[in-house]
Amino acid sequence: MPVFRRIFAGRAVIVMFHEIQRDFRHELMTGTSVDLFRHSLDWLQQQGWKIVSLDECLQALSRNEPKAPRYAVLTFDDGYRDVRSVALPLMEQRKAPFTVYVPTGAPTRAMKSWWIGLRELFRREERVTIDPMERSFACPDFRSKRAGLKTVIQWVHGDYRRSALLESTFRRYGISLSALNDAYFLDERELQALSRHPLASIGAHTASHAALATLDASSARAELDDNRIYLETLLERPIRHLAYPN
Ligand SMILES: [Zn+2]
Repeated sequence: MPVFRRIFAGRAVIVMFHEIQRDFRHELMTGTSVDLFRHSLDWLQQQGWKIVSLDECLQALSRNEPKAPRYAVLTFDDGYRDVRSVALPLMEQRKAPFTVYVPTGAPTRAMKSWWIGLRELFRREERVTIDPMERSFACPDFRSKRAGLKTVIQWVHGDYRRSALLESTFRRYGISLSALNDAYFLDERELQALSRHPLASIGAHTASHAALATLDASSARAELDDNRIYLETLLERPIRHLAYPN
């Protein structure tokens, strides 16, 4: 593979992360462990991938230099708090720029973060009943919690409109998505501080983290415009990049 990679690998790669978890097991192994993240940064640098910002990468590629290095762009979707508390110090040590894509609903706490709700549910309970699936999961231990969570997440990924059906389940188990948003996502002040960090760029990620393909054109347009305007107002700088959610 190393031989073929030298010939056929692209000139740039975007590496997408979500959460960088200090306690990977406690979070049911849903994000990236801090060890794997550290290893990934070191591996990219050892293999000669130069970690640059998205803007720098685009500029470098457009210059089309014959002996240019390969570029890697680090991105983090959703604006998790651990990007700042766990990942940032490691990127600072390596002077590695990065982009964080933030949906409005994360800092405002209004996002229906069903994936975080499900994780909390499976972590907390020994039996989980998901009414809209007409299924019940016995989940007394780590393995069964992880397996049950994975099954329900895959069910939502099969049709994103199903995420709305989970609301009654969350209510019945006393799971508050806004409280979880508060625990897991950067708030407005933290986001403002992060946006001023010399290594950071902030990008758009829609207002509500909706799957745009399930919306009509004008709602999809509003999801994009509202989020960009929100971020530009909060951060007082232009928002030039977008990552589609889901
Ligand atoms: Zn996302």
